[in-house]
Amino acid sequence: MEVIALPALGDNYIYMICGDEPDRATAVDPGDARPVIDWLRKSGRRLEAILATHHHADHTGGIPRLLELFPGIEVSAGAGDRGRVPGQTRFLSEGNTVCGGAGRVLDVPGHTRSHVAYFFDDGRGGGDLFSGDTIFGGTIGNLFEGTPEDMFASMRKIRALPDGTRIWCAHEYTLEFVREAARVDPENTLLQRRLRRLESAAGTPTVPLTLAEERATNPFLRWDDPELTARFGTTPGIATFRHLCAVA
Ligand code: ZN
Ligand code: FE
Repeated sequence: MEVIALPALGDNYIYMICGDEPDRATAVDPGDARPVIDWLRKSGRRLEAILATHHHADHTGGIPRLLELFPGIEVSAGAGDRGRVPGQTRFLSEGNTVCGGAGRVLDVPGHTRSHVAYFFDDGRGGGDLFSGDTIFGGTIGNLFEGTPEDMFASMRKIRALPDGTRIWCAHEYTLEFVREAARVDPENTLLQRRLRRLESAAGTPTVPLTLAEERATNPFLRWDDPELTARFGTTPGIATFRHLCAVA
């Protein structure tokens, strides 16, 4: 499976998933139709399906135009987004599959009350996670409709994915928020090193993130890190996560 990242709308990414079929592709979070149409033309592929992570316009705004060009294709999103995602035909919940069984649905609310992620296990200790606005480099998505408790449960699911997981998040926020993370967790040498590396490569895409690096440097995956909890004076777990939501 190949993943192509299309920059869109300033700091969004739309992802094109190319599976075994050489003439088809699936679009993840097409907030704008134009980059998808241009890429399909260039690659000679036809749009087969759309996967949306949540209802926000920067993830779904291109769907109506794409459905005009590719009528009848499947549009998948969370069951709780019924009525909020244009053209939705599949209403997903935890454990459902997409793309002929290749991708598995995770319910990961917090940013919005319904939010799904799509995990494509490669069977070799890794895989590709399309995470929408749940996790970003060094941070998490804003809690617009959910609580810290919702997001904590979602982060526990993401942190538990295989070590070799690649994370295709929906915005290029990495430099800004790794800088912020380094302020919250200043003793973390891996985080400082990550920040220096990002600063010297500023302006280049940082996706895919790796789960391994986020575990080591994203404070929101480090709710039970002994140094971080000692620094905050919080108990490991939700108390530390809640503290992070308040300060980072
Ligand atoms: Zn969003
Ligand atoms: Fe977004």
